Amino acid sequence: MFVRLLIFLIIGMVVYRAAKTWFGGATQRQVGRPGNLPQRADDALVQDPQCGVYLTRSDGIALNIDGQVLYFCSEACKEKYLAGKTDSV
Ligand SMILES: [Zn+2]
Repeated sequence: MFVRLLIFLIIGMVVYRAAKTWFGGATQRQVGRPGNLPQRADDALVQDPQCGVYLTRSDGIALNIDGQVLYFCSEACKEKYLAGKTDSV
């Protein structure tokens, strides 16, 4: 009797582990690989309006113009953009 109980226990554990692995795999497939998760808002790509380079928001130099935030790759680009803007206006 004790042996049957032991076998049941082992089968239960194996089934539990298999189910866990299966469900874990299914969940992973739904969400995607951890390295491939959607980027955080701070890491979203933005374009430098001056030179056209793409950079992440956290890397860029932010400039708030009329409530719109622009991101530049460098101070030089930011100044050039500001200079161009004031020249055209
Ligand atoms: Zn630039």
